[in-house]
Amino acid sequence: MGVAAIKTLRSRITLTILAVSLLTIAPISVFLNVYINRTFENYIMRQERERSDGIVSDLESHYDALSGGWEEDFLHTLGMYSLYDGYILSVSDARGDVLWDAENHDMTQCSRIMMEISARMSTLKGGFETHDYAIEAGGRRVGGVSVTYYGPFFYTENDYRFIKTLNIATLAIGLLSAAVAVFAGSLLARRIAKPVTRTAAIAAQIARGNFNERFDDAPSTRELRDMTAAVNRLAASLAEQENLRKRLTSDMAHELRTPLAAVASHLEAMIDGIWEASPDRLSACHDEILRIAALVKDLRELAKIDGDKRVPNKSEVDIFDVARTVCHNFEAEAAKKNLTLSLAGEASVVPADKDGIIRVITNLISNAIKYTPENGRISVTAGDSKDAGVVEVLDDGIGIAEEELPFIFERFYRTDKSRNRKTGGAGVGLTIAKSIVEAHGGAIEVHSETGAGSRFVVKLPKG
Ligand code: ADP
Repeated sequence: MGVAAIKTLRSRITLTILAVSLLTIAPISVFLNVYINRTFENYIMRQERERSDGIVSDLESHYDALSGGWEEDFLHTLGMYSLYDGYILSVSDARGDVLWDAENHDMTQCSRIMMEISARMSTLKGGFETHDYAIEAGGRRVGGVSVTYYGPFFYTENDYRFIKTLNIATLAIGLLSAAVAVFAGSLLARRIAKPVTRTAAIAAQIARGNFNERFDDAPSTRELRDMTAAVNRLAASLAEQENLRKRLTSDMAHELRTPLAAVASHLEAMIDGIWEASPDRLSACHDEILRIAALVKDLRELAKIDGDKRVPNKSEVDIFDVARTVCHNFEAEAAKKNLTLSLAGEASVVPADKDGIIRVITNLISNAIKYTPENGRISVTAGDSKDAGVVEVLDDGIGIAEEELPFIFERFYRTDKSRNRKTGGAGVGLTIAKSIVEAHGGAIEVHSETGAGSRFVVKLPKG
């Protein structure tokens, strides 16, 4: 089994167009050529017969019955004119005696003209042939004429030039059309092949891990434009994924290093006997480890959400109901700080993943509790608004500085205030909330002012 030869797209398209044009243009020009030649030959043959008939009728009309013959001058003129046109005449009287004969009259002229015609007609089969005609006057035979010419047809100098020009013209038209077709085909092939080749090169770069190559100029053909746009999108999204992966890895390492190092140094001090392993110290280490465990849990969740942007189990969820449950769960924690946690609103049903929504509201209320000093107020509202379900978590806590607002949804971001307070988590709670809300096609907004409190608004589309 042979392996099919691999050809470039360009040569394949060009060859195909060449083959198609040859298959169509060549038969058309050949047919045209043959048809023109045939028609012209028929026309010439008809003309030759008419010429012979003309000679006979000329002779008949110039017959002088009185003298019983023709004027010498007439015969000479007719004979010589005919000879120049390629017709060799021999006129005889009723008895068969030759009165005028071209060959006898001017042998050299005669053979020169015959040779010329033979040379002109050399590519066609044929030869000189003689036709005898009777000349009649008054109903009786008064003589005869034999007309010799090149048969089955011959071209005069002008005929020859005409048909030759026509033949060259048809051939030239054929060649020119084929050349134009091939030229246009090769241009087209180039336009198609160029972006395809570039796509292959970019794909190869992507495979090697270089996601920075892009198509700069979009092709004007729709399919090619779609293809190059898709490759650009692919490269961009891979670059983004790669960035995310790198950032996540380094952020994670950074976040885990500090608490792990703290626990390790505390434990070391206790093992070495520098510190007494008091229940207080052990409990502090335990707390730190619990924090690390919570962080690892958050990170796992974050990785899961990042990996799959779709909402897995959508069902009809009443967000007011969810908010009530979550508020209930936080009652004890709020009471510890003497915070007023209130809930208002009405039922609002949206298609959503219930666990995800519980997670979002939990993170928001948990933040509100964390970042609101004792005796503060937290109010949660849930309900309908136009074509969305809305949950609002409002607190009168420490608030967020304006310059920090754009970053709080980024992973591992914590405002300076929350860092100093040593409260709070790793800074992924809002990142997770935002990812979940966006996976539902919704949006999360924040309005906040340092010292005045914060308001988080979550909108979840109904359809
Ligand atoms: P964390 O686990 O640190 O709370 P989040 O992603 O939930 O992380 O929040 C990011 C940061 O946004 C917090 O560290 C905090 O500085 C700020 N923040 C979030 N919610 C509030 C709030 N209700 N009041 C003030 N600051 C807040």
